Amino acid sequence: MLKINAINKDSGPLSLTTDDGHLRVVFLGVGSAFAKRNRQSNMLIIQGDHHVLVDCGTQGPLALNDVGLNVVKVRTYLPTHSHADHVGGFEEIALMNRYISSGDGKPQMVILRDYQDLLWSKTLSGGVEYCEVNQGKSLQITDFFEILRPKALELDGRKVWTYQHGPMEIMMMRTRHFPDSAISVDESQWCCGVFINRKVWISGDTMFDYEYPTRFANEAEILFHDCQLFNGGVHASYQELMTLPPDIRAKMVLYHFGDNWDQPQTWVKDSDKYTGNPVEDGFYGWAQPQVAYDFY
Ligand SMILES: [Zn+2]
Repeated sequence: MLKINAINKDSGPLSLTTDDGHLRVVFLGVGSAFAKRNRQSNMLIIQGDHHVLVDCGTQGPLALNDVGLNVVKVRTYLPTHSHADHVGGFEEIALMNRYISSGDGKPQMVILRDYQDLLWSKTLSGGVEYCEVNQGKSLQITDFFEILRPKALELDGRKVWTYQHGPMEIMMMRTRHFPDSAISVDESQWCCGVFINRKVWISGDTMFDYEYPTRFANEAEILFHDCQLFNGGVHASYQELMTLPPDIRAKMVLYHFGDNWDQPQTWVKDSDKYTGNPVEDGFYGWAQPQVAYDFY
């Protein structure tokens, strides 16, 4: 059962544990890559004494600060893909933990081998690999992060990956995000969504792909889906999500939206058959930033 609870920001840092072992999801932000009124869509997933931060974008360290945390207190990370609103904070994670932290050891990173090499060679290495040179050798990603490797698994004939993180089963599914010409995940750059304990499904960045949420809708208690307010480009649009069946929309919480989400007159046309108020349009609603989605 889902309950949405407020986070008391005056009573100290957000706890990275849940005392009774229930699953908690906190979106540090619910905005798009360029959002200014919301922070970027990075989410903390917490259960028992385990946690994972799914993505840490350019505003990620600021968003952690909003809830009394920082990149040293968070110990486990899962980067979904290489856009800066998802991995722009990883240089700070690497440097703060190696050079400023009080000695908690390397932070952990849940990542597949192929994406690890890409993240390092195309994104992270430029800023951090030459912080030290030892006998002519620069640093590697494993000098900064302890790697947690998910296992491949077949689910309904599709390849997924899972990592058991304490009580949490973290499943990763590839998405069709970019380029927009890609007709399958195999033609797309690496990007994934996550499915936690086969209960909480988070699409990750993705173009509209009717089959993708539909495949998980029965099993999932709630579906958090990426949503943009216009058609075209590399995300699912509100209009496209409206084509999903009512029972799927009813458990769908929309996130990753632009700054004008609450001004439907700027993005809903007269010819559209929806209001721009997601509850009236049959969705569960907009995702809320910095509240606790508690699953009992
Ligand atoms: Zn993206």
